[in-house]
Amino acid sequence: MKSEDKAMKAIIRGELPEKRVMVGGWIPDPEKRAAEKVESEEYTKMMQQFRMPLFCPKCNRLMNKRLDRKTWMKMQVCFDCVIEMENKLRVNGTYNQYETKKITENKMSWLTDIKQQLIDYMENYSDKLEFSEGEFIEEWSGGYKKEDVKIVVENTLRMIDRDIEDCKKEIKNETEVCKP
Ligand SMILES: [Zn+2]
Repeated sequence: MKSEDKAMKAIIRGELPEKRVMVGGWIPDPEKRAAEKVESEEYTKMMQQFRMPLFCPKCNRLMNKRLDRKTWMKMQVCFDCVIEMENKLRVNGTYNQYETKKITENKMSWLTDIKQQLIDYMENYSDKLEFSEGEFIEEWSGGYKKEDVKIVVENTLRMIDRDIEDCKKEIKNETEVCKP
């Protein structure tokens, strides 16, 4: 008996048919699956950041203001908590370092964006003209060679990585200094 018939008969009898997973020649690529896993973990982390709880985890006050959303996205506390913290920093004289830290954080996030854009550019760069059928490939006379682009991008990425490391160190130092 074919499995579909078997399932149909089972349904008619009021039973649940045997569950079958069709794989049909598809072999999962472990590297791709690992990449997908990382991607989904990053997505979950990002979504947690967007999903604002009803109460501030620090002071338990209701977070219902537009400004709460703003501070939640950046610092995961309510607006009042940020104001209180900033006031304490003004009093203990470390507000300037706190401002500097915020600038460094922006710089780091900008560098991280640029890094990703360069990686995408390098990965998608082609010095060949390929037709959709993939039948014949022609050298592109006007463009830069892919190897040359790769060298330039990789050198730039190294510089960016150094800058990102510097930013991390600065942020760590600034965080230690400006404790409310
Ligand atoms: Zn709060």
